[in-house]
Amino acid sequence: MNKTLKDIEAKHVSGTEDDFRGNEGKVECPVCRKAINQRDLETHWPTDEKVTVELCCDCRADFEAETGKTIDADVIDDDLFSSLYKWAIENAGPTSNAETSSEDRMRAVATALNGELWQSGGGIWLVICRRKDGKVVVVSDEVICEYASEEAFENSKPSKSIGLV
Ligand SMILES: [Zn+2]
Repeated sequence: MNKTLKDIEAKHVSGTEDDFRGNEGKVECPVCRKAINQRDLETHWPTDEKVTVELCCDCRADFEAETGKTIDADVIDDDLFSSLYKWAIENAGPTSNAETSSEDRMRAVATALNGELWQSGGGIWLVICRRKDGKVVVVSDEVICEYASEEAFENSKPSKSIGLV
């Protein structure tokens, strides 16, 4: 199994973190992008459990109908998992690709600037650079902001910002 594969994970779309843990929250199926109940989300792993595919029961049924294969456990054999992974990527909604590339772009920025990659929710990725002088510089796809201090950052009060689009 390729260790560089990325998890295909559902995003939490409503409710509190407690609801999420209690299986009451809504999540977005990463394949069909429908909001579903957390309890209707399935998670599958290959035998080494190094990577995850999450999807809704409907998508799993579509996969089974299209491929003639059957998924009857959370941990599935590596061949079956590879087919499921490939199928999930091919069938994933368009937003998923946009988010992935944003994440990839910001990851590259984080590496280049020696900053910290941070997901601020809603598929928005930020790079946070903490300077030696205590200032915090935050880079997103759309804007670069400078904050005078950690406090100003926490309060979302930038001292300077430069739009990129
Ligand atoms: Zn689905």
